[in-house]
Amino acid sequence: MRVAIYPGSFDPVTLGHFDIIKRSAAMFDHVIIGVLNNTAKTPLFSLEERVNMLRDTVLDLDNVSVESFQGLLVDFARIKKSNTIIRGLRALTDFDLEMQMAQSNRTVAPDIDTVFLSTSVQYSYLSSSIVKEYARYNVDLREFVPECVISKLMDKIK
Ligand code: ADP
Repeated sequence: MRVAIYPGSFDPVTLGHFDIIKRSAAMFDHVIIGVLNNTAKTPLFSLEERVNMLRDTVLDLDNVSVESFQGLLVDFARIKKSNTIIRGLRALTDFDLEMQMAQSNRTVAPDIDTVFLSTSVQYSYLSSSIVKEYARYNVDLREFVPECVISKLMDKIK
């Protein structure tokens, strides 16, 4: 059973994330989306809201589940009996930080590998931050986030 962990803040989940989720689900037996409870960041959505939006988004994907975690990602991966971490890469600007995280994770957990999936071109500019900015200016969000996120995002921005 090949289990992969896809970690992130998902504040909120975008279609760019969802694209990575679907592609990972086709490659692994089970994908666990790990929503980070990061006390150093102040997210727009609570942990529970982020988890719930993701659960709605992946409802039709049988081999994908959503959980929250705090602490070290590699510890979460071990608890879940996974030795693969999935990360998405958009542009060169993602590369430095992602490489640093992958290498530091491998230093503390040599048995766990990071797999990078390159973004689909149509989502290469898309981030949770941009989506929140668009929501503030009433841009039509249907091209950027799953349907279930739109009303929650608009309510929050109000
Ligand atoms: P984090 O705070 O861990 O970066 P994010 O929710 O911003 O959490 O992103 C989670 C993962 O999804 C990261 O690997 C990020 O690079 C990737 N990602 C975000 N947006 C996109 C996108 N549009 N296309 C591909 N990957 C993406």
